[in-house]
This record gives sequence, C-alpha cells and structure tokens, in this order.
Amino acid sequence: MYKDLLQTADEPPLGQEKISHEMIPLTTVSAGHLFKQNQIPNSDFNVLSDSTAKFKTKYFPLATDKQWNNWHWQVQNSYTQFSKLAEVIDISTIDNVEFLNKSRKLPLRITPYYASLLEDKSPNYAIAKSVVPSKEELIISEGEESDPLHEDSMCPVPNLVHRYPDRVLLLSTGFCSTYCRYCTRSHMVLKDKKHYGEKAWADSIEYIKNTPSVRDVLISGGDPLTMNDKHLEFLLSSLHAIPHVEIIRIGTKVPMVMPQRITKKLVRMLKKYHPLYISIHCTHPDEITPEVTEAVTRLVNAGIVLGSQTVLLKGINDNVETMKELMLKLLKIRIRPYYIYQCDPILGSSHFRTPVAKGLEIIQGLRGFISGYAIPHYVIDAPGGGGKIPLLPEYYQGRKGDYVMIKNFENKIYKYYDPIK
Ligand code: SF4
Repeated sequence: MYKDLLQTADEPPLGQEKISHEMIPLTTVSAGHLFKQNQIPNSDFNVLSDSTAKFKTKYFPLATDKQWNNWHWQVQNSYTQFSKLAEVIDISTIDNVEFLNKSRKLPLRITPYYASLLEDKSPNYAIAKSVVPSKEELIISEGEESDPLHEDSMCPVPNLVHRYPDRVLLLSTGFCSTYCRYCTRSHMVLKDKKHYGEKAWADSIEYIKNTPSVRDVLISGGDPLTMNDKHLEFLLSSLHAIPHVEIIRIGTKVPMVMPQRITKKLVRMLKKYHPLYISIHCTHPDEITPEVTEAVTRLVNAGIVLGSQTVLLKGINDNVETMKELMLKLLKIRIRPYYIYQCDPILGSSHFRTPVAKGLEIIQGLRGFISGYAIPHYVIDAPGGGGKIPLLPEYYQGRKGDYVMIKNFENKIYKYYDPIK
C-alpha cells in the first residue's frame, strides 16, 4: 500500500530529494522554482479576494489564477529568502539579517497567500511579527529550552508522544507551509532531514494498536495538512481501522496560511474518517479572509468539528479587543474557540511572552461580555511535561458559613447557598 502512496500524480516537483521508502518526500524546493504550466494539477479552490488578486498581479505577474489557487504552487513559491521577502515588507529594521539567514534557527517560510496579508504593512504589524524572523530570537532567556514540554522523554516510540492516559500525539511530519516564530516544536522543524515515513508511522501505529487505553489520536507535526492526500489518508485509514481509537484529531495552521489546500477532494477524503476533529491554529482577526472562510466552510459542511488554538503573543494579540474580535470572527465562521495558550518557553521566545496576568485579564474581559461559546480555555502547558493546566480569574472568592462567595463579570460579589453538611 505504501509504495502506491509514493507515486502520486499530484505531488509537487521534489527538487533534489530522492524518494525512498524511509522518507516522506517534503516540498522543500526554493521559491524560485516554478511549476511549468502543464505540471499544475487541477485545483477546485477558486476564491481569490480582491486584495489577494492585486498582490498576485504585482508580485507574481506570470502566475495564473489556477496556479495561485493550487496549494502545491503556494508551497513551491513560498518566501524562504529575506531578499525576496524584502520586496513585500520592510525588513530594514532587522539587524543581522545575514546572520539570521545563516543561523537558520527556524527556517523562514511564508506562503505567497499569507505574504499577501503583510504587503505594505509595518514590520510591527501583528501578523508580520508572528512569521518574520527577528534578531530577538537570538536572545536566550531564563527558563527557555529547545523542548520545554519534554515531549522527547514521553515518546514510547519516536515521534509519538504519550502524555495523557487516553490519548496520544502523533508527530507526522516536520514540515509546515509557514513557520511561526514562536513554534513549540521548532526543535523538530529546524532539522534539515525529516524522516517521517513508513517506518516511523508503522511503529506509532503498532504502539497504538497494542495500547487499548488510547481512544483519541491527535495527528500533528509540523503540519499534517502539508502532506498530500494519499499520505494523509494512509495515516487516517490506519488509525481508523484500530477498534479502540474512537476519535481522530488533526492539528493544523494550513486553513489560515494556505486555505487553497482545502480542496473538495481533500474534504471528500477526510469525511470518510469520522468522527474527525480539526484544531486550527489562529493568531489574529486579520487572518479571517474570504479565502479562509471558504476553506473553513468546506470543512464544517463535511461534518468535521473545528476548534481553535491561539498562542497569546506580546504585541500581536495580547489585548482584550483583539482577542474578542478574533474569537467572535472564529465563531461566526463556525470554529469553536478552544484554547488560548501561554507562549511556551522555547529558546529565543521571550519577546513573545506576556505575563500570565495578561492572559487572565483577557479571559476576564471576554467572560460575560460575549457568548460563552466564544470563550476559550486559557492554559499553560506546564514546562517539564506537566500537561495543560487551565487558569481562571478568581471567580470563586471563598466561603462564608453555608455560602460560597462568587464574583461575576462586573466584579460584583454574590453569595450562593451551599450548606456544609
Ligand atoms: S504551524 Fe504549528 S508546527 Fe508549524 S511552525 Fe506554526 S506552530 Fe509550529
């Protein structure tokens, strides 16, 4: 079965990478390498907003709408060099560009679609800060580690994290279509060789088969939706066939950074593996565009349950108004806000981290003011592998005799009769 998977007609050109049974081919060719017209597989994605169309005309004048709307083309033409990115956004304020470029701490990679959101914006623009490298990444601060969640120590087999009793995290690939500068798994994605293939998956699948307590598998990475349909279906079908696996989840940022990936063909395949949940990594309300709305609508209409995950980031989304707008926009396109994460202490991430009090302030600013469906959980993923710990403002104010004292969203105190027996 796997041999067939390696010979897919819709795979993008693979540059110099040699396909082997040990390695899932990744689309790591340079942005300058374009498909020839007759190499572009057909795509049924056809939403191109006015602003994106203008960007395409300006920066990719030779690209057709058909090419632009093809996710393989988006991967192939991604911004991976500072010199090319400088055409779109002012990066002159970044010192040590050369050094950053060479150190490749975390690769630079931004899809043309996502770059269209940055055009003519200041380097301080929220979305730009989340994906454009900065010299501050070179500053290592107290408490930071390359793998702060100690996931490596919780892998019974490589690339399978078993932290909680009934669920596992399957790290399927090290590749993303756009790299977030604060990525918890940057230690994985910065490696040049990413051997996520038949052997690694086979070990993971075997472990899950032999562990009946696992009822929930989260496929993440890297970004699983950067794999082609056949690779993804191999994983989904293998997991779906295990009787005790009750649900499968996928963690991805692709619908936000490369909505063209959500083709009708992909969705037809995904809906065969219900109950399927997708957690979408969302950062800022400006991400919710007509293209993203179309991609998300396709997924929801296929019966896939969507939740959001947002990392709390200084200068990007760390205020009540931005978070409120984001959560309401997500709810409107039928993504249920799920988590706000405190930014994990990966190496070189202190410029992104807010005080914990900021997260609590945001939750307090949401609860009671907008629909409960729009309120995510604010969590810290405990360093050292403690798992996600939810944090709440102090609504519970203690007890007075047979009453508990509780505070509402307007900071008014109420008492609730709760007799001590
Ligand atoms: S999409 Fe997820 S895995 Fe990829 S760089 Fe961003 S945070 Fe990391």
